[in-house]
Amino acid sequence: MIEIKDLHKSYKMGSNSLHVLKGINLSIEAGELVAIMGSSGSGKSTLLNILGMLDEADSGEYNLDGVPIKNLNETKAAKYRNKFLGFVFQSFNLINYKSAMENVALPLYYQKVPRKEREQRAMKYLGQVGLKEWATHLPNELSGGQKQRVAIARAMAAEPKVLLADEPTGALDSTTSYEVMDLIQKINDLGNTILVVTHEEDIAHMCKRIVYLKDGVIVEDKKVEQVRASTYV
Ligand code: ADP
Ligand code: MG
Repeated sequence: MIEIKDLHKSYKMGSNSLHVLKGINLSIEAGELVAIMGSSGSGKSTLLNILGMLDEADSGEYNLDGVPIKNLNETKAAKYRNKFLGFVFQSFNLINYKSAMENVALPLYYQKVPRKEREQRAMKYLGQVGLKEWATHLPNELSGGQKQRVAIARAMAAEPKVLLADEPTGALDSTTSYEVMDLIQKINDLGNTILVVTHEEDIAHMCKRIVYLKDGVIVEDKKVEQVRASTYV
């Protein structure tokens, strides 16, 4: 599903340049649940943003479901992004004046899905995250965990090939974090490919594989004896 080879990325800072990714090689198969672990500033978001086609590497190869991602114009990049990728962020990024259902349906509007199907799909995915009864509520009427579940439903509603989550539990207390990870595990059980960026070891251990980033390279890549969220809650 994801194949990257010798990926490099630097940020220009005035006359200096910060070399953040120094030759990343990574293969991820369809159906995997992978954590990208590393301390703050280790380049996790930089890597995820490149995988998410929100940013471009300076050099190296990236193939996404067999498609080489390189030198795409913004129209083509946006098309692939919508078709292949779903995003979940630490800060939920919900629209405050729209209901849970409208938030989930919005990306489908931009994909020109007809209204009726948008609403059906939004309700289906709200149901999948356990929030059917909350469909008409505004984000500020929801708890942090519920907001993140709406954001996950929104990402899933577009039926992406890969779900990319950058610190999805970063704004949540530990019990709620485990609940959100439990949901992510369930979505993975349905066959979805998911990447979770986190700096928290116990969150990473709820994925099936952990890739450790340090000093711009992958220093460890291991399979996990999966820990179920129910162990904690
Ligand atoms: P992480 O997500 O692991 O905390 P990031 O990928 O956000 O790390 O950042 C890696 C390094 O790159 C950090 O030192 C950060 O300050 C720097 N960095 C990130 N984004 C930019 C940017 N747009 N411009 C300059 N430096 C950046
Ligand atoms: Mg980050």
